[in-house]
Amino acid sequence: MNRPLVAVLSGAGISTDSGIPDYRGPNGLWRKDAEAEKLVTYEYYMGDSEIRRRSWQMRRRNRALEAEPNAGHLAIAELEKSGIPVRVITQNVDGLHQLAGMPARKVLELHGTARSVVCTKCHVRGPMEDVLARVEAGEEDPPCLECGGILKSATVMFGQQLDPMVLGEALAVAKACTVFIAVGTSLQVQPAAGLAGVAADNGARLVIVNAEPTPYDDLADEVIRAPIGTALPELLRTLSAATRRADHHGPGTPDA
Ligand code: ZN
Repeated sequence: MNRPLVAVLSGAGISTDSGIPDYRGPNGLWRKDAEAEKLVTYEYYMGDSEIRRRSWQMRRRNRALEAEPNAGHLAIAELEKSGIPVRVITQNVDGLHQLAGMPARKVLELHGTARSVVCTKCHVRGPMEDVLARVEAGEEDPPCLECGGILKSATVMFGQQLDPMVLGEALAVAKACTVFIAVGTSLQVQPAAGLAGVAADNGARLVIVNAEPTPYDDLADEVIRAPIGTALPELLRTLSAATRRADHHGPGTPDA
């Protein structure tokens, strides 16, 4: 019997319990502050060394790299460890799903990761903390050590396209999954939001866990407004128990 594939689409809301605010959502900090938004807009970043200097200072002050996964991240990783196939599609760049124990190959980071840097010229990647150490040591706009090119965080900035490979894989997961759980995302930013619709159109059970209403609530089989830290572990425990029961009884056996 094919085991169910659980897809989890996570947004900023899953990381707020870890102390990471919503930076890039429709109501995020960056969207409310035009000057701050320039720091994460590709055109400004590439064209102005002063913007880059301020960006590195912002990254240095940003404590996101020190954040720890919370109950929501841990519950997803536990579900995966229980043997149920799980794929995470995340709009977050904090790497907390992997820190919680999700294998990196099973996490699709739509907006990249703030834990790495990438050279805009030769595309070499490296750890963010190494470059932050250079900033700490006095380099205001540290260049790529390989080619001298401009370094940036390995996140998708405003004005940059999502990685088509990552997006393609996310689409395939949305089409193939049996359960699609959207958690902590307002489902207002495309194309990520559309994945919920794709999953539902392809027969997946759609569950939305979010504090605020989303445009996909009407399409959902279940909408949960309770706090993610309690609601998500409970939801995943129920899901895991139901899967074990189905395994035990085998196909075609009515639910006990
Ligand atoms: Zn380079």
